[in-house]
Amino acid sequence: MNKIPVTSPLLPPLEEFQPYLEKIWESKWLTNNGQFHQQLEQELCDYLGVKHVCLFGNGTLALITALQALRITGEVITTPFSFVATTHSLWWNNIKPVFVDIEPETFNLDPEKIEAAITPHTTALMPVHVYGNPCNIEAIQQIADTYNLKVLYDAAHAFGLEKDGESVLNFGDLSVLSFHATKVFNTFEGGAIICHDEKMKQHIDDLKNFGFRGETKVIAPGINAKMNEVQAAFGLMQLKYIDKAIARRKEIAETYREKLKDIPGIRFLNDLPGIKHAYSYFPVLINETEYGKSRDELYEHLKENNIFARRYFYPLISNFPTYKGLPSAAPGNLPVANEVAEKVICLPIYPDLEISDVNRIVEILKTLLYSV
Ligand SMILES: *Cc1c(COP(=O)(O)O)cnc(C)c1O
Repeated sequence: MNKIPVTSPLLPPLEEFQPYLEKIWESKWLTNNGQFHQQLEQELCDYLGVKHVCLFGNGTLALITALQALRITGEVITTPFSFVATTHSLWWNNIKPVFVDIEPETFNLDPEKIEAAITPHTTALMPVHVYGNPCNIEAIQQIADTYNLKVLYDAAHAFGLEKDGESVLNFGDLSVLSFHATKVFNTFEGGAIICHDEKMKQHIDDLKNFGFRGETKVIAPGINAKMNEVQAAFGLMQLKYIDKAIARRKEIAETYREKLKDIPGIRFLNDLPGIKHAYSYFPVLINETEYGKSRDELYEHLKENNIFARRYFYPLISNFPTYKGLPSAAPGNLPVANEVAEKVICLPIYPDLEISDVNRIVEILKTLLYSV
């Protein structure tokens, strides 16, 4: 039986990469805003429908730099139901994360619970479009406007995500993408900050290159977070295949939904009205009482069958040693997030996954249900 991972990168035919590499060798320009870097920024602006893209070496450095660019300090309200990098980026900026619970329908930061967590030290909101489902953007912006807070979206799962025909990346002050190998669009490692005006673009570009503006002027204590030419070239090549890859992901998601809908105790998310999804993950929630087995039993059972589903996002960030001492990390403050983290498992979804394998995964879910 072949091994099935939870995700697998989109890799265009190898020979197509050769001409890009030849150009890099010819120019001898390996990094620092080279030709492919500039071209990828432009093509991503066009593809995503955004004003400015600042490429980064990875998504975590982009998050850390975005917080610097917005001069965020003090306390930031964020979600515990995400990949650890969301909260780590606050920690690396000496900012105190304040956890607020999530919505049971979307698993995103619950706007109704934000106001109670605002203090005189709060400077920003940092929501995540988890699994590529958009946050309640309007409600979040309204709170930010009322309390004069910045909004930084961790949009690592939001590549190609559109609401009523517009990219969700156009909302908030800044949005951050990840192009890690496990994401819908990848540059091996990589990431980007999406911003809305030329001045901010310039500032972020300075920050990611040690704070240099020009040859001799350093305008801020920047960092080295640049994307190199090989990564950018790979991104350009992959962009040609991205629509096909997303269409394939959609087909897989629809197959899962069709086959899983009659299995008791398994809940999945449906497409939302007005939303263009990229199907970055396929999370399901296991209701142990109805399904008869726990999420962890299912996880082990799948593993025994060579299917490596993942429990994203478990453990919850607020339960990691670094963060669990924070008052806002108390499980009683985050009942929905704690419950979802105990029930969720992400099933394999990636462009090369065969529909016959999807069927096999569903059969394995069924045999476990009916086994004693
Ligand atoms: C992947 C991911 C990141 C980190 O991105 P890297 O490119 O791996 O540094 C941050 N936040 C979320 C929600 C992610 O899924």
